[in-house]
Amino acid sequence: MATQSAAWLIKNFWNFFKEYSIDKEDLIKKFNEVQGSGHDYVWSLLQDCHANQAKQFESGRIDERTFYQMNSNVYQQMSRFLQEFEKKKNRLLYQSLQEVNQIMADRFDDDLKGYEVFSVNCCAACDADDIKALTVEEALAHAEAIPSRCGNTYNRGCMVSYLILNDDHPYHRQKVQP
Ligand SMILES: [Zn+2]
Repeated sequence: MATQSAAWLIKNFWNFFKEYSIDKEDLIKKFNEVQGSGHDYVWSLLQDCHANQAKQFESGRIDERTFYQMNSNVYQQMSRFLQEFEKKKNRLLYQSLQEVNQIMADRFDDDLKGYEVFSVNCCAACDADDIKALTVEEALAHAEAIPSRCGNTYNRGCMVSYLILNDDHPYHRQKVQP
């Protein structure tokens, strides 16, 4: 599917944008009006989502946890966009921002104990930390370091995820043997 068609936009991003009181017909109309710069248009919409939730947080309409969770969701879309449609190197930066905001949201869980790193087939540096247990503060630092740590071996972004440790999941698994 051509990445400049409205069908592409709807297929890949409507599930996300529909949560933002964006009118579908209006979205398609504007996208078609900027033929040739559809990518810029989608990126500006994602930036608008960020600005919008910052305003909602400042005015007290959403709480801090929701604010961080929404930030994490937008960064996820931005990093997906960069990987699939732009192949930009700075995808790692947006993955880092996504994870940091997700952890900031997770902190509101009373029984959050920390995280376990899950990294299999990412790169040598990330895989070395597989199954490592991290405190919340350590996980924040680990997520912030994604752009400087990850070798992005397969050019598909950083594959690290942070598994929540709590009363139900005090640990997750044994190390996978290569
Ligand atoms: Zn890596």
